[in-house]
Amino acid sequence: MFAIETEGLTKTYGGTGGCREISLQVPRGALFGLLGPNGAGKSTLVKMLVSLIHPTEGQARILGKPLGDVEIRRKVGYLPENFRYHDWLTGADLLRLHAALYGLTPEESARRASEVLRLVGMEGWADRTVGSYSKGMQQRIGLACALLPKPELLFLDEPTSALDPLGRKEVRELLARLRDAGVTVFLNSHLLSELETVCDRIAIIKGGRLIYQGDWKELAAQA
Ligand code: ADP
Ligand code: ADP
Repeated sequence: MFAIETEGLTKTYGGTGGCREISLQVPRGALFGLLGPNGAGKSTLVKMLVSLIHPTEGQARILGKPLGDVEIRRKVGYLPENFRYHDWLTGADLLRLHAALYGLTPEESARRASEVLRLVGMEGWADRTVGSYSKGMQQRIGLACALLPKPELLFLDEPTSALDPLGRKEVRELLARLRDAGVTVFLNSHLLSELETVCDRIAIIKGGRLIYQGDWKELAAQA
């Protein structure tokens, strides 16, 4: 059973850009890396998979359901690239906002907030404003928001771009733990080094088209 299955998925912006004819299978429980240079179409693909934008053509199934199905709302976490909110909100405000987005009750929201803050190493920071956070902390709180509903499937768009080497390592360890706990993780990056140590499957996208998908070790053997 696949967590993500797409068939000819295409999104163009007035006929250009975007991504084209993406047919992709992500097995359940995989830590899947999508590698490609800036402008390759990684964000476009993920935005379609979380129903932020609609495909021009093609289809996809997410956790066995068609795109946009409300039943998967609480099962899918998403950290957009450049996660950014009003500076005057606190980390706790952001978590409450996302809890509402995911339909959590106030009790679940409070309990999950302290769990995810611990997971991303931000205990003690929830009552400070986002404006006082470093870029790396903003990415961490973004990751905490995406983890709130205990998602079965987690999409992360360049989640470590603002982190220093230690922060990157911590996030990679967290992703490996999530995968070990059964979460399917879909990770976008333009850096091979961000993917090679953690991902078990990989796809490469270039100019909007998939040019490789498969086992990470097979690719290394071909190279
Ligand atoms: P990546 O995430 O790999 O950097 P994107 O999905 O952001 O790539 O972009 C893929 C291509 O689509 C690029 O050529 C980009 O300029 C174009 N593109 C992305 N978003 C838009 C948009 N809203 N309008 C027009 N072109 C866009
Ligand atoms: P930004 O304002 O930074 O561009 P978005 O408006 O794209 O970010 O999304 C903000 C947050 O809302 C994301 O971090 C994500 O947790 C949540 N979110 C938005 N759309 C979805 C979706 N379709 N599925 C799950 N979570 C979503």
